[in-house]
Amino acid sequence: MSQLLYVQDLTVSAEDKELLHGITLSVGEGETHVLMGQNGAGKSTLGCTIMGSPEYAVTGGKIFFGGEDITELSADKRAKLGLFLSFQNPVEIPGITLSEFLRGALEQVSGKRMKLWDFKKKLKAAMQVLDMDESYADRDLNVGFSGGEKKKAEILQLLILQPKLAILDETDSGLDVDAVKVVSKGIEEYRRSVGGSLIIITHNDKILSSLSVDKTHILADGRVAREGDGQLAFDVLQNGFEKYISEGK
Ligand code: ADP
Ligand code: MG
Repeated sequence: MSQLLYVQDLTVSAEDKELLHGITLSVGEGETHVLMGQNGAGKSTLGCTIMGSPEYAVTGGKIFFGGEDITELSADKRAKLGLFLSFQNPVEIPGITLSEFLRGALEQVSGKRMKLWDFKKKLKAAMQVLDMDESYADRDLNVGFSGGEKKKAEILQLLILQPKLAILDETDSGLDVDAVKVVSKGIEEYRRSVGGSLIIITHNDKILSSLSVDKTHILADGRVAREGDGQLAFDVLQNGFEKYISEGK
């Protein structure tokens, strides 16, 4: 399987503090990877750095996407190449409807303005997958949305933008039962219709059970402490991190 993402010996700093100390990992086309680690291990930092967040400075190593060195590319250029990162805390934007937001995001990423009729059809189909009431399309983005509804809006974005690689950072969001179903269903549909790759940051056993995980990466103190197959994620959930982290050292 060819490599879609290759992170090579990456060191990252913010506010003059080194947070990631030489991370190497790769994700093949169509693969599903799980990123785990205790609070503060560096999972979100890695996700944001791959996406090109200006908050984090790459001080060493490189990031390749589809064979291209993207280490210096801006976040919007990375999005155009097919990278997507979901936010743990989606923003509320009064005055912009969910539908307008998604159409704008799609236009930015694809460089083309889709005909309104075609876009509405695409949106309707994606909303049906997520059992989302159509009226949500015309509501202001995330304003007054419940946690589960925000999650739906985020997964809807994934289905509309159809990125080549999606990084879903679920860590601290305390997903309720409804949200877990949405994430699982959305991921299933993304895998089915787009066949894209996934890096999912989660400790949620229900989400993990609904995925077919190719590889698990465990971060500790800004380093990859341990890697393994899909089973490793379940072992960690059952036995805790310590055992796996110390064995990896
Ligand atoms: P995780 O997502 O695994 O819980 P994070 O990537 O959020 O961990 O954080 C890793 C470490 O980096 C933590 O110690 C955190 O305080 C620190 N950190 C994250 N972002 C910044 C930042 N912008 N400035 C300074 N320190 C940060
Ligand atoms: Mg985090």
